Amino acid sequence: MTPDEFRQAGYAVVDWIADYWTTLDERPVTPQDPPGAVAARLPAGPPTHGEPVEAVLADLDSLVTPGLTHWQHPGFFGFFPANTSGPSVLGDMVSSGLGVQGMLWATGPACTEMETVLLDWLADLMDLPQRFRSTGPGGGVIQDSASSATLVATLVAVHRAAAGRWRQVGVDRRYRVYTSTEGHSSVEKAARIAGLGADGVRLIEVDPDTRAMSAEALRAAIEADIAAGVTPALVVATVGTTSTTAVDPLPQIGPICAEHGVFLHVDAAYAGSAAVCPELRFGHEGLEYADSYCFDPHKWLLTGFDCDAFWVADAGELVEALTVLPEYLRNAATESGAVIDYRDWQVPLGRRFRALKLWFVLRWYGVEGLREHIRSGVALAARFADRVRADDRFELVGPHPYALVCFRLRGADEPNERLLAAVNATGRIYLTHTRVAGRHTLRLAVGAPQTTKVHVDEAWELISQAALPAAD
Ligand SMILES: *Cc1c(COP(=O)(O)O)cnc(C)c1O
Repeated sequence: MTPDEFRQAGYAVVDWIADYWTTLDERPVTPQDPPGAVAARLPAGPPTHGEPVEAVLADLDSLVTPGLTHWQHPGFFGFFPANTSGPSVLGDMVSSGLGVQGMLWATGPACTEMETVLLDWLADLMDLPQRFRSTGPGGGVIQDSASSATLVATLVAVHRAAAGRWRQVGVDRRYRVYTSTEGHSSVEKAARIAGLGADGVRLIEVDPDTRAMSAEALRAAIEADIAAGVTPALVVATVGTTSTTAVDPLPQIGPICAEHGVFLHVDAAYAGSAAVCPELRFGHEGLEYADSYCFDPHKWLLTGFDCDAFWVADAGELVEALTVLPEYLRNAATESGAVIDYRDWQVPLGRRFRALKLWFVLRWYGVEGLREHIRSGVALAARFADRVRADDRFELVGPHPYALVCFRLRGADEPNERLLAAVNATGRIYLTHTRVAGRHTLRLAVGAPQTTKVHVDEAWELISQAALPAAD
């Protein structure tokens, strides 16, 4: 493909994406085909001779989009949002066009330096503790996902707990990781990858009403483990749990970690974005105790997957745990000690220029544009919660501090399961569920960029209608 052919095909692809976005509302949110339908539509192998891009675009329409769950659909309320946006796509396109491998500072200085600066920008924008800024011993890096951030935090934590010997001898005794019963599944996965096993994770009970980690239970677990000869290595506290957006009490958890020298990682994958708004920073109270912190701009900050912002208070400890320097990567800049080599801050060696999409997003929307997006989600969720609260058939399940509303029909689980299936079958909206204290609970997460009052009101109408038979 010559640059001129690319120009033509590129315009067509951009047109295709713009048309996709403008026609989202007309599509069913989720596909109706059974498993295997998409695979059956694809040919058995690649074409022998090349084809024009128009042929591929036509197949996108006939083969691919009918088999998609449309995450950017204004009726998408499932899981947590996974935002994208025009500027994010454009920034990503530039990153792809540059094709830079930013593993070392020397392999793309601007790739490294822009990432460092943007994470300082974000830290300022969210009013994160000073210790995470690159101007001191700390600093930020972009990981692919919050799961990778948790893995990296786990590795550094074990390295610290092993008095710096982990990188040489590996796991040489029993280490333990603590998170609440509502903590994300990536905590267990990270522990397993780190060699601690699922048994190395202790799930701490939560307050029955707030679903937040009990600090007293955490203290008791840590002290019992120490008495039993097990080494507490890491606490993962969550700001905005995946199930219900509960906020673990950092002001109580932090001092316990400090007292016992336990690494504290704070996982704010979804809710962190809210901190761009000064009035939505309550979850970060006590964050100054954290050794590391992450959130996903790819969830709620208009930046396409993948983009997880991860900060550490002590970058030296992180680099010591993860650095490797084979001869073929040696270079003068690394040797000088004056640069950041981000390959030491993550699991893979290679890395894309992800900061570009964040840069495009920050510059297009500006601080106020990002705040508007977050505030609109919070307000729409509150609007929906008001409808639920006003209807005696329903109950709200716990508070809704951000843009997720958990709710259910009062009474048994089964009508709730039927209600969820019925509203999702309309193709107009998509909700997912969770279990809260053992009870089947519906989740409505606002955050898709095109969602407005109209869509939230339609969601309530559909839910309210579908619930009628259950009330008879
Ligand atoms: C979504 C989520 C994750 C996982 O996010 P990825 O970036 O997809 O790995 C981790 N923790 C919490 C609390 C989440 O909500």
